[in-house]
Formats: sequence, C-alpha cells, structure tokens
Amino acid sequence: MKIIKTAREMQEFSDSLRREEKEIAFVPTMGYLHEGHLDLMREGKKRGDCLVISIYVNPAQFAPGEDLEKYPRDFERDERLARDVGVDVIFYPSDREIYPDGFQTYVDVEKVSNNLCGLSRPLFFRGVATVCNKLFNIVKPHVTVFGKKDFQQLVVIKRMVADLNMDIEVVGMPTTRESDGLAMSSRNAYLKEVERGSALSLSRSLKLAKELYEEGERRASVIIEKVEKYIGSHPYTKIDYVKICDTETMEDVETLENESVLALAVWVGFPRLIDNYVLGEPLNMM
Ligand code: AMP
Repeated sequence: MKIIKTAREMQEFSDSLRREEKEIAFVPTMGYLHEGHLDLMREGKKRGDCLVISIYVNPAQFAPGEDLEKYPRDFERDERLARDVGVDVIFYPSDREIYPDGFQTYVDVEKVSNNLCGLSRPLFFRGVATVCNKLFNIVKPHVTVFGKKDFQQLVVIKRMVADLNMDIEVVGMPTTRESDGLAMSSRNAYLKEVERGSALSLSRSLKLAKELYEEGERRASVIIEKVEKYIGSHPYTKIDYVKICDTETMEDVETLENESVLALAVWVGFPRLIDNYVLGEPLNMM
C-alpha cells in the first residue's frame, strides 16, 4: 500500500495507471475509519483494479465554532484498517497541499444544497463540492463510492458530476449500522456512555416512520411530528431538523407521492448526528 501526500505525485501515479488501462476506484474520507468506510472500500475493490482512498479533514466544510480541531484523527489505525481491506493507495495531503496561498475557486451546487444540512451549515456543501472536485482532479478515478448515510451529500456530488460533465461513475452504498441500529459515524466517538441510548432514538425513529408509511400514512407533517416527539422524549437530544424531501430535488414535500427521504439531524450531547430513510425502502436493521 502506497501513501501519497502530494497532488502532483498522485496525479502522476493515476496517469500511469490510466496508461495501463487500469480502472481507478476512489473513496474519499475524513479518516477515523469505521466499518461504514470499510464497506465503501470493499465495494471500490470490486469495481476497480486500483483502490485509492483519501484521508483529509477538509477545513472548508467546517464553519467557525464547529468541530474541525476536535475531529477525531488516528492515521496509524486508519492505515492498518485500510491495508487489511486491500486499499492500494492512501492519498493523505496536508492543508497547504489542498488550499495553497491564493486559493480562491469554489464549486457551488445550488438548489440541492439549500435545504437540510445546507440550512444549518450554509457553506458546508460548497466545501464538500470543492474538495471533491479537487480530489477527483487529483485522483482521476473512473468510479467513486459514497455512503447514503450522508444522503444529501451524495445528491450534491451526483449533481456536480452531471452538471460539470465529469466522466466518473458515482456509486451510493447503504448505511452501515452498529448491531443496535446506530448509524456508524466517526462522530459517534464523541458520545458519552449515558448519551448512547439517546443516540439510538434516531434509528428507532426511522423504524417508526417506516411503520407509519407501511400503514398508509402519506402526510409528511404527521410523520415528522411523530418522529420529532419520539426523539424529543429522549434526554440529551436537541433536534436540528426532521424533514421529508424529494430524493431528487431535496425540496420539502407535503404528501408522499414521489420517492422521498426522511432526513434527521440531531445533537446528542456534543455531536450532531445525522441519519435518513428513503420511505418505502427496506431498512437495514433489526
Ligand atoms: P466521512 O469520513 O464522514 O466524510 O465519510 C466518508 C464517506 O463514508 C462518505 O461517503 C460517507 O457517506 C461514508 N459513510 C460514513 N458513514 C457511513 C456509514 N455508516 N455507512 C456507509 N457509509 C458511510
């Protein structure tokens, strides 16, 4: 497994792979790897001849006062996990490498970024789209694998790739969960023991929504109210949003007619956790 720290070296390595007609699969991450990341990598392994991952905590997607400095990091552990899963290259750049002096070009994916996380974190998707665009230009992948756990992010990346004619296949993978249903996240590391039960209210509320949907409920407001009430009944929780949106436009829906996603963002103690469920789909938990 190679560890590459500069954009130039990564580009040259990818060029050499492409000359040999090798398919490059790419999984961007912010590190502190968990089983959810590893599932994306296993999928990448199947889809490409060479699997590149990136580990980079992107400052452009954190607002002042968010958890950029606190974000969990453990490169040695990540390296071990990546090696075990068969990663060929870790691209591990510094901030200076990604945002050198004079940097001033950003990618704004407009409408689909506006709702949900875009409301509470106004520059978040600009940061995500910009860094992914840069990483795609550096790694030059044929295929890239993202998690549906960050549902809106996946929609934003697919939109950017289509709008900017990037010749990359974007694959979305189901959310990997702990055995109790909690969606895996690097930010789960912030949870205190006493908060863990409250964190489960997110995934359990998705189950509640699934049941309502299966009973025939199609009014978004009714489902949202029940989900909010359920999560709100748990200590340490503070809801950022509970919304039901069209999976293509990311606009709020009133009545569930087209494919819609229930999306949640909830602070549980310090961390703000997200989860989602596409109504009518199977929910991969007990
Ligand atoms: P992050 O390191 O949080 O930026 O995530 C890197 C990639 O892993 C993104 O595509 C995420 O959607 C994906 N990811 C994070 N958590 C999970 C999970 N529990 N299941 C599947 N994919 C995930």
